[in-house]
Amino acid sequence: MENIEELLQGKIRRIGIAGHVNPDGDCIGSTTALFLYLRKNHPKIKVDLYLELPKQALRTLKGFGESRQTANEDHIYDLFFTCDVSSRDRIGVAGDLFEQANRTVCIDHHVSNPGFADVNHIVPDASSCAEVLTDLMALDKIDQDIAESLYTGIIHDSGVFQYSNTSPHTMRCAANLMEKGFDHNKLIDDSFNKRTFRQNRILGYALEKAEQAFDGQVVVSSISLEEMEEYEVTQQDLDMVVSQLRLTEGAEVAVFVYEKETGQFKVSLRSNSYFDVSEAAAVFGGGGHVHAAGCSGEGSADQVIARILSEIEKRLHG
Ligand code: 5GP
Ligand code: MN
Repeated sequence: MENIEELLQGKIRRIGIAGHVNPDGDCIGSTTALFLYLRKNHPKIKVDLYLELPKQALRTLKGFGESRQTANEDHIYDLFFTCDVSSRDRIGVAGDLFEQANRTVCIDHHVSNPGFADVNHIVPDASSCAEVLTDLMALDKIDQDIAESLYTGIIHDSGVFQYSNTSPHTMRCAANLMEKGFDHNKLIDDSFNKRTFRQNRILGYALEKAEQAFDGQVVVSSISLEEMEEYEVTQQDLDMVVSQLRLTEGAEVAVFVYEKETGQFKVSLRSNSYFDVSEAAAVFGGGGHVHAAGCSGEGSADQVIARILSEIEKRLHG
């Protein structure tokens, strides 16, 4: 696929868009960008956006305010897009609307994505789904608000152009978007760098609790529901922890486990060089990218950590 317009041939009256569960900056950035782009350039088409609530800092993006947090199952869409969704079971909010649609489109950049839609445009080399979308949109049809959403997606998934997924092409896309004139400096600070006081406190606590395994090649930490309550935070406040663990000298893999519901855990994995965390996550039904992936686990935090560590140990180079 070369551009979004290819999909709009024929009678397209209603389009649905959804992101993934527990949406991050790339998810909110790419879905709101697509929503705004379709509405601006194809005003005759009715577009609905389905999103779970993200952390506060992402709710100010244009388009987010019009998103729906519940699905009306009666709607039949001519076209239904998912952005940044790595597998069918990770679509947030939309429920059966995806299956019911006449045609489905998956736009993504996860290497583990099996291609679950009718049309699958998956670019594993791209930094972000927002970068994939930038390439599918005509530059002259991107206004400042759309550019701001796309740029947000790119900076979140590339760690503001720091991670290994940042390519010269990522920078070119970002440069084109910057020319649309939004305040990039403020955007990076407000949506990526800034932490609430509580977010900083839980980060400090999780780092304090962290332990090393396998001669420091792996760094692990976890947070229980009880601890989240004590620090008055939710899972949306924990996204910095695994990124900081990864930066530990000598660590190849960072593991962060947090409790979603009693006995149900989310596992976030990051790696620095050779280790493919999406492969390790896939053993537990998860997925993601080579250097950033996740999965779920049941039992106690110690049991979940023990299972993931034994899988990681098999793959460490020594
Ligand atoms: P995070 O650790 O930030 O939640 O996720 C890292 C990456 O792995 C993201 O790109 C995310 O979409 C993917 N990911 C996280 N958890 C899962 C999961 O349970 N299943 C799959 N397929 N991908 C996941
Ligand atoms: Mn992404």
